[in-house]
Amino acid sequence: MNTNERGFAVVHDGTERKFLASLRKTIGSLQKGTLLYSILKLKCPRCRTGDLFINPGLFVFSRILDMPDRCPHCNQDFKFEPGYYTAALWISYPILLLLFVPLTILGFTLADFSFFFKLVYPVLILISLFLQIPLMRMARAILLAMTIDYAIKS
Ligand SMILES: [Zn+2]
Repeated sequence: MNTNERGFAVVHDGTERKFLASLRKTIGSLQKGTLLYSILKLKCPRCRTGDLFINPGLFVFSRILDMPDRCPHCNQDFKFEPGYYTAALWISYPILLLLFVPLTILGFTLADFSFFFKLVYPVLILISLFLQIPLMRMARAILLAMTIDYAIKS
């Protein structure tokens, strides 16, 4: 039996692999055409088929917020009054708060919180910066989903 540096037995029964496989299966089984699918895949809320962004995908590094004027699939108008998409900030901001407020509280409850704030917190901030792009895009998808109704077989 393998042991780790603390002497605890390490069981390699493939649990992690099973967990990852089930996670992948869960994401893969997201029903095409569901609301969650259309938000995570950044699809048009009306037809849930056309891409919301010119450069599709959650993790992109160019043309981050470039959207077509109309849905390429169902021709839904994506142009709203000026400032419409500013509201997306009010969606992404609480999501970040939901992540960081509990983490900050957790940091203060740790006995050695200087370690937490010197090492763990900067990493979390880096991760959140990295998540900024997908979060901004998802916030727009959520905002549009709240504005435009799903039209079955439009
Ligand atoms: Zn569409």
